[in-house]
Amino acid sequence: MEIIQYKQEIPITDEVDIIVLGAGPAGFGAAYSAAKQGKKVMLVEQSGMVGGVATSGLMSHWTGNTKGGLYEELIERAYSFEREINKSIIKEDMIKVRAEKSSLCPQQIINPETLKVVLLRMLEEVGVILRLYTFAMDVHLNEQKDRIQGVLLTSKSGIEMIKATIVIDATGDGDIAYKAGVPFTKGREKDGRMQPVTIMFKMAGVDMSKVKYVYGFEESYEIEAGDLQTIAKQVLKAPAGHVLIYPSTLPDVVTINMTNCIDIDGTDAKDLTKGERVCRYQIQDITHFLRDYVPGFKNAYVMDSASILGVRETRHFKGISMMTEEIILEAKKLEDWLVKDAHFNFDIHNLTGAGLDKDGVQQEFSQSKGYCIPYGCFVVEKINNLLLAGRMISGTHKAHSNYRVMPICVNMGEGVGVAASLAIDVNSSVKDVNIKEIQKILMNTEPNFM
Ligand SMILES: Cc1cc2nc3c(=O)[nH]c(=O)nc-3n(C[C@H](O)[C@H](O)[C@H](O)COP(=O)(O)OP(=O)(O)OC[C@H]3O[C@@H](n4cnc5c(N)ncnc54)[C@H](O)[C@@H]3O)c2cc1C
Repeated sequence: MEIIQYKQEIPITDEVDIIVLGAGPAGFGAAYSAAKQGKKVMLVEQSGMVGGVATSGLMSHWTGNTKGGLYEELIERAYSFEREINKSIIKEDMIKVRAEKSSLCPQQIINPETLKVVLLRMLEEVGVILRLYTFAMDVHLNEQKDRIQGVLLTSKSGIEMIKATIVIDATGDGDIAYKAGVPFTKGREKDGRMQPVTIMFKMAGVDMSKVKYVYGFEESYEIEAGDLQTIAKQVLKAPAGHVLIYPSTLPDVVTINMTNCIDIDGTDAKDLTKGERVCRYQIQDITHFLRDYVPGFKNAYVMDSASILGVRETRHFKGISMMTEEIILEAKKLEDWLVKDAHFNFDIHNLTGAGLDKDGVQQEFSQSKGYCIPYGCFVVEKINNLLLAGRMISGTHKAHSNYRVMPICVNMGEGVGVAASLAIDVNSSVKDVNIKEIQKILMNTEPNFM
């Protein structure tokens, strides 16, 4: 490959206590909780909105049975705000029925439009400096290469550097940990294959008296032509072929999680472009399939689709500890927890086609207790002022399929925000922060956190 040398002087435009890269559920949680501890916090996001997959990804619901923490505060705030703005069209009975049909609590059903505003308001309340439309591109390391002195950002305004005492990478893919040289693996241990990508979309004009939600790959029901999941595999072109129909808070609207593209590396722009094209074209076919075969969809139409391709899995960074499926299955009370009462199943989408992967466990997942995630999964060996938060923390492919869901990511962010703040207070490496002190603050901050 031909190369050129490109050099430029880069202005240092600000200096903060804590910089958080990526404003998804984890980045939001980290910025909010660190600012609540009184720190000067900047939150940097490449897109024009806060929320990551929860908003740009057009998500329908907070998954699993995670308890406590910032997650509970957030869903309560979003629930009240939704009622404030959509009072005249939200029928409480309707939401209750939708939630009951899907074993969710009403607060778990998301209206991404509401969430976009609630997240912004909460960040403003605690004084987070928000930088949208800004991509975190690189790091400036010290001579020993064990400390990030600043993060390089690029935007319409040009390239700039922000100095920070602590850096929190919540980009989902760990773009900044990668630039800082933290070791990682991608996807499944044996072959590096990653979970498929999806563009979520919403359909309106649905006859809600006929529609049934389908939450998991093992759920199905009989339609005129036979078993719904079987027919979908026959009619839709692979790798599409499974049926997942989720609720929304709006009167005749459902959310569809059925586009599917395999063998995409979400850290490669060419692959992302391919995934976007494949999934976007599938939306037309899926719409026809739903109208032709599935009760309630005869007059339904696509009203919206996600503005970003939903990437489930990319890098898993090597932390001081590692989350494993055993930790989740045993649900042991770990002394060094940063997150606790986390709960979901092993949601591995088929890495080679449609449906559930052979290593995934949904209906058969019998562990009902909440599990802990140890602090060491958020801390790396070599960089003393870097914390990880979100789906790319240190863990195995299978464990990741569980902790990647949004409630757990919000609470990861909350814990990491507190850890960053304490590291500043005691002037120490993030590795040396007293975990008991972090836990004390987490339990005091959230009265529901048991
Ligand atoms: C299609 C799909 C369906 C899902 N369904 C559900 C569901 O129903 N319920 C559930 O709870 N979970 C669901 N999940 C899982 C969940 O949404 C994600 O795992 C979770 O959002 C991860 O949170 P995060 O904060 O780590 O990352 P993300 O939500 O991915 O947020 C990362 C943020 O960082 C930004 N960013 C990335 N790189 C940079 C950079 N270099 N500079 C600046 N900003 C950057 C991104 O724009 C994004 O806003 C789903 C995921 C997908 C993809």
